[in-house]
Amino acid sequence: MESGEWRQQVWREPLLLEYPDRRPEPYASIEPAAVEASMEKPVPPPLKRRGKPNIPGLSEPEIIRHYTRLSSMSYGVDQGPVPLGSCTMKYNPRIAFKHVFTGRLRRVHPLQPDETVQGLLEMLYQLQEWLAHILGMDTCILHPAAGAHGELAGVLTIRKYHELAGQLSVKREIIVPDSAHGTNPASASMAGFRVVEVPTGPDGNVDMEALRSAVGESTAGLMLTNPSTLGLFEERIEEIAGLVHKVGGLLYYDGANLNGIMGYARPGDMGFDIAHVNVHKTFSSPHGGGGPGAGPVCFKDVEVPGTGLRLSDIAPGARVVYDEREGLYRVRWNTRGVGRIRMWAFNTLPLVWAYIYILSLGSVGLRRATERAVINTNYFLSLVRGIEGYTLPYAPGRPRKHEAVLSAKPLERETGVNAEDVAKGLLDRGFYAPTIYFPLIVDEALMVEFTETETPENIQAYVRALEEIAAEARASPEKAKSRPLNTSVGRVDQVYANRPRTLTPSWRVYLRRAREGGG
Ligand SMILES: *Cc1c(COP(=O)(O)O)cnc(C)c1O
Repeated sequence: MESGEWRQQVWREPLLLEYPDRRPEPYASIEPAAVEASMEKPVPPPLKRRGKPNIPGLSEPEIIRHYTRLSSMSYGVDQGPVPLGSCTMKYNPRIAFKHVFTGRLRRVHPLQPDETVQGLLEMLYQLQEWLAHILGMDTCILHPAAGAHGELAGVLTIRKYHELAGQLSVKREIIVPDSAHGTNPASASMAGFRVVEVPTGPDGNVDMEALRSAVGESTAGLMLTNPSTLGLFEERIEEIAGLVHKVGGLLYYDGANLNGIMGYARPGDMGFDIAHVNVHKTFSSPHGGGGPGAGPVCFKDVEVPGTGLRLSDIAPGARVVYDEREGLYRVRWNTRGVGRIRMWAFNTLPLVWAYIYILSLGSVGLRRATERAVINTNYFLSLVRGIEGYTLPYAPGRPRKHEAVLSAKPLERETGVNAEDVAKGLLDRGFYAPTIYFPLIVDEALMVEFTETETPENIQAYVRALEEIAAEARASPEKAKSRPLNTSVGRVDQVYANRPRTLTPSWRVYLRRAREGGG
């Protein structure tokens, strides 16, 4: 695909509720009376709908057109590259799609007896084992519903560990590097810890001097991402682990994105005690728009001092176990520790998706996915290196792993066109934008991650687009700042949704505002 030859469809599409009510034939929605007549038992009266629902009757083709039009006004990984650093938008293999979305899995209920879902539980059990192997840990729990939720599960476990060891009054602090994802300090502080930030050195590693002075008696633990969000492998990880363990702290690994090391290096071997992984980033479960995801969290068999319990015994949620005596897989809730942090045991579909991804690639395929992802990043860097306007802060000579963070600061200084404008320019050239303004330690950050499936041609076209944008910024900064012009939606007001009262987040809020009068 050449850049500059692309334009997105625009439809004036009303809401389905705004369509006229036609009760059309022949593809009309099914009549409740016909459904009831076909049932073995009648619907109990309290469950019966009184009167007609206040929605228009629409035909199947009308509804399908509606959603197809909407989808053509959007952009996704099935249309082109989505090199969204850290968030990792992998291609979602159709083999998993087929099994997860069209099978009987969709009809399983979370309260169904274990005996009736043995096949599903066996898959989840196997996934726990595989993840433990991939991460180099001893026990995995599939309970958390997202990466940040996995982190919360992990730091609550750290808290419980110190509490049971009688140390919680002293162990008040969690150390987090300044390159961390924002969810790390948020999780630590939600669990009641004070967050101590340590800076990144010019070589892209954690500043050891600063770390040495931050580690002390009050250190409950350290949260680290490795490779970091800069895509750089922390070279002194074993020394760091030694420092934290020496003062009785635990090491937490943010493995949201394992794409840079999967099959090659394992957090368990680096000295980490707890690690989570996002199946929706590393193992290709679809995500975006808030979910659904899953953030399994894994533990080393570290003993909680003086209790005879291990970390996984005090972790939140449920685990799938195999009961030898019964010959059955069982969902077993952990009752001795943190407790449950969500209603149901697991977010099953993304987990089954991950199971299928791992099974279909196998150990050789997983290693190859890592190799491709890392080669793609470094191929991209080799092409982008000569383009004026962009730099690679922090150790530009060091190879990156799954992602790289460029800075558009030189371009911004020269032309006024900033990282946000570059992102909009990429949208206009048929690409998804990179992650921007993160990590916070890079000015005008453009965080790019191609993943394992992107082709060299697409990476070349992306780099040409970056080059075109820099040229346009010099020739006509106004034009560069007015983009996107070819997309279905132009520049949006980025902060509008965050202003107070823009959104009505719940029915209760709606009613309260209606009572108070005004918006
Ligand atoms: C995405 C991400 C998270 C948070 O994961 P969610 O599933 O979005 O909650 C945490 N850390 C890193 C490094 C991430 O990339």
